[in-house]
Amino acid sequence: MQQGNINVQTENIFPIIKKFLYSDHEIFLRELVSNAVDATQKLKTLNALGELKANTENLKVEVMVDQKKKTITVRDNGIGMTAEEVDKYINQIAFSGAEEFVQKYKDSDKQNAIIGHFGLGFYSSFMVASQVEIITRSQKPNSAAVKWSCDGSPNYTLEETSKKTKGTDVVLHIAEDSEEFLEESRIREILDKYCKFLPVPIKFGTEERTIKEKDAEGKEIEGGKETKVTEDVIINNTRPAWTKTPAELKEEDYKTFYRELYPMTFEEPLFHIHLNVDFPFNLTGILYFPKLKKNFEMQRNKISLYSNQVFITDNVENIVPEFLTLLHGVIDSPDIPLNVSRSYLQADGNVKKISSHITKKVADKLGSMFKTDREDFESKWEDIKIFVEFGMLTDEKFSDKAEKFYLLKSKDGKYRTLEEYRDHVKDNQTDKNGKVVILYTDDVKDRHSYIESAENRGYDVVVMDSPLTSHIVTKLEQKGENLSYARVDADTVDKLIEKEDTAPSKLSEEEQNALKPAIESVVEKEKFTVQFESMSEKDQPMIITQSEFMRRMKEQQMTGGGGAMFGNFPEMYNLVVNSNHPLITQIAEEKEEEKKKALLSQLTDLALLSQNMLKGEALSKFVRRSVDLIK
Ligand code: ADP
Repeated sequence: MQQGNINVQTENIFPIIKKFLYSDHEIFLRELVSNAVDATQKLKTLNALGELKANTENLKVEVMVDQKKKTITVRDNGIGMTAEEVDKYINQIAFSGAEEFVQKYKDSDKQNAIIGHFGLGFYSSFMVASQVEIITRSQKPNSAAVKWSCDGSPNYTLEETSKKTKGTDVVLHIAEDSEEFLEESRIREILDKYCKFLPVPIKFGTEERTIKEKDAEGKEIEGGKETKVTEDVIINNTRPAWTKTPAELKEEDYKTFYRELYPMTFEEPLFHIHLNVDFPFNLTGILYFPKLKKNFEMQRNKISLYSNQVFITDNVENIVPEFLTLLHGVIDSPDIPLNVSRSYLQADGNVKKISSHITKKVADKLGSMFKTDREDFESKWEDIKIFVEFGMLTDEKFSDKAEKFYLLKSKDGKYRTLEEYRDHVKDNQTDKNGKVVILYTDDVKDRHSYIESAENRGYDVVVMDSPLTSHIVTKLEQKGENLSYARVDADTVDKLIEKEDTAPSKLSEEEQNALKPAIESVVEKEKFTVQFESMSEKDQPMIITQSEFMRRMKEQQMTGGGGAMFGNFPEMYNLVVNSNHPLITQIAEEKEEEKKKALLSQLTDLALLSQNMLKGEALSKFVRRSVDLIK
């Protein structure tokens, strides 16, 4: 028996590792199963190259939990290790990797950098085990089986042992404080998270049964020992959809895979994009467009990142642009550096390329869907609109492409591209300065009277009801020349689109000034600015408007982004008085103060009512006053 001292500087590195990786102990299983899978893949490669003759038909990995012995065993029938290899790969390389890791993070507060660290490898088993054994027999001809054992101190033993089958067993004697990992459900959960799509079958079970030892071909070994193994089930899909080519898959296969990824989601995705790149980096994956809800936060961050089919994380922030985190699905790339901090990822050249590649793919897909089947695209538009808007607002390249398929929906339900829409309204909705004004509403019902006035002038109104509207209209204005957007209630309709001829005012300036204080006395002064406009006699006597600029700033502040720097915006409105309305002239001439006030209150309340702003006590008062007036 060989006894040795693992060549590490730090006296006892295990407690440090344990402490730092506290929140992430479960990854030990990912590491051990990945190593086992690698061992089978290496055997396959060497066999294919003719360097080793072995049967590679039944390659598999088994995870077994023995609650009585308090062990977890990860078994593979892969390449195995000779005594020299154990010495080299485990005693020297694995441990020096761990040593380096500890040195790097020993007295740092970079805990976040450590979470998600990849490549701690075999060594991470000491996070949960007080004793670890490797029992291994190399596939190389005439190799003796060896057993390596270590209790977490830098001392180990290495001795010959008997093992009939080739491959490796890693046996963890679970430490007292980690006994949760002896629970079947816990292990199942971890395997489901990290190993669901590994390329070789992973078997798992806990119920023990006795079988005769078998060789790699599955034949019982003559005189082989009887061993207890667990009742096992395969937990993984070794060929997940993203590893296949699009030609191999039907529409239904993509949907089935979506359900496999999100068993708890009942809604079907709208469509998908199959990613497949091998130059200048490796990337495969399938991204799905979900039906986006208005409150899409819940649906975010559902893309899982894999590296060669090993699950790494479902936090792809910094790897894909933020707007793409609205998509669902899988990205698999061995080229994404996994052992670095997230902020570093952002600066990584490969990650940048991957990110812009995906963005391009997504924009191209949407563009081609629009071109090939516009009707279908329109039917999906309401569900993908927020996504497109989010992308346009955050990614200039995406925005350039999206301009061609961004759709405006008129109140009558017709969809037009930005270009088509401009053509549609330019004759009627160009103001006296040559600017095309696009009128929109956030809600068809709530703004009924404003929409009606616009339509009375023959104007078209588009429905823009996404939470990003105030941002996107600003963006679209920047992109279009001589173009502005205004919500129907941003001003009186004649001010929204100013034409040459303004009607003369019936009420003189002196009369206006005389009436103004009386109007101001019936409304909240801080909230409303009273102003006179010479509108048409047929327009309402009073209307409430809110400046496009102020409202956008306020909304943008609420949804984050521009405007926040101006501090909190107060809720401010204009009370526009129609100086040509006969009722206004009549009230201006009213001598009886009481009556004048009642009439003005009535008119302002009506204006508030048509903007859906009259609530509570004010509404009750209005109703009472109306009844009195009728009497
Ligand atoms: P990594 O997997 O990142 O190389 P590890 O510390 O996990 O680092 O493992 C070190 C080395 O030990 C591996 O590269 C491999 O050569 C060897 N090894 C680990 N587990 C096995 C196994 N189950 N079968 C064969 N070799 C293994």
